[in-house]
Amino acid sequence: MLSAEDRFYPVPLSTELAKVPASEYKALLSAVGSKGAVTRSELAARSALPRSSVTLRVRELLDAGLLVEMGETEQTGGRRARRVGFAPSTGAVLAIELGSKHARWRLADFAGAPLAGNAFPMVIEWGDEKVFKPVEAQVRQALDRLELSIDVVRSCAVGFPGPVDFANGPALGPTSYANWGNGPVSSQLAKWVQGPIVVDNDVNVMAWGEYNSKWRRENIHDLLFIKHGSGIGCGIIANGQVYRGYDGTAGEVGHIGVTDVEPPLTCSCGSKNCLEVVASGSALVHRLKARGYDVETVGDVSRLASEGDPVVTNMLREAGRALGTVMSGIVSFFNPALIVMGGLLGSLEISLLAGLREATYAKATMFSTRDLRIVTSSLGAEAALYGATLLALDLAYGLAIDLVEERGG
Ligand SMILES: [Zn+2]
Repeated sequence: MLSAEDRFYPVPLSTELAKVPASEYKALLSAVGSKGAVTRSELAARSALPRSSVTLRVRELLDAGLLVEMGETEQTGGRRARRVGFAPSTGAVLAIELGSKHARWRLADFAGAPLAGNAFPMVIEWGDEKVFKPVEAQVRQALDRLELSIDVVRSCAVGFPGPVDFANGPALGPTSYANWGNGPVSSQLAKWVQGPIVVDNDVNVMAWGEYNSKWRRENIHDLLFIKHGSGIGCGIIANGQVYRGYDGTAGEVGHIGVTDVEPPLTCSCGSKNCLEVVASGSALVHRLKARGYDVETVGDVSRLASEGDPVVTNMLREAGRALGTVMSGIVSFFNPALIVMGGLLGSLEISLLAGLREATYAKATMFSTRDLRIVTSSLGAEAALYGATLLALDLAYGLAIDLVEERGG
């Protein structure tokens, strides 16, 4: 059985969802989501709705099959109270994380508790058909084992390792994404996922997960999330929302130039001294290889750093300084409360973090760094799947509201 800690935090109410009663249903579903099984009194306390509204709305959600009765509380002096919760048959959501060389997926119930999941190696350049086929086969197998039909999958969210046209779905990436075609990234998934599908840049999804898992509750609504792995990307949370920019490419820091690198390095994009070619995990692998190291992956770099190799440690510190040089300009401009370091190198490597701190605090304006904190991700490798699950739940709850309103109307 899943413990309370395994459960996800409730999906926050979108600020634009101020209308009643949609926001009441959403508040209730979110409040149930955070606890699993709750009494109506607990729901009233958690959702800050009047008891009479809770009673009415819970009745409607029960009638629509979105909530189920889950027995009674233990008797503690007073009378027993009936509890409501989600059943797996109520619905499930699918979260998918795509990396450049791996895919992970997780099926969660409406409370965000994991039902099944898997990770497998793939190559993103294979394109949508080859990447998503195994996901479909594995999800179907898992549902069979759970004795659930494919129809329980009410929504899906995908973290994609490159820029995405958020509104329309196609990948905006370089030629390496040629096999992804011009249509939406989700078109293969749409063949078997009945509900809505959202695809976003992986670092945006990670930033959303990190923000909701911790910082929203600490009243921090402006932060930058850096994914430092084989590449470098930045997710932006501005005023409590993911900021994607006009074309969806906001936060693409990898091809911003680092000025003080000699001799200059030529980037895959043709420019000189891009952050990627100076400080990314791939760049470090390349440079270590040239120095005779037996390294193939970013994981190898991490292993050497953990063994205390002085050359690797120095290189990571230098990479951190280059990152900090670029971030200092962004910090001066954007004035975030927080920079969160994630990704395979970002969430682990102390020397990288030290270099980042050193250059950011030294080079950004005094006012912008007065209260700035630079920390490692609290979610680590979980950030993308966590964020994707939240996005999928948000879609599923929205759909649930439509269902109740249809029945009511
Ligand atoms: Zn470049």
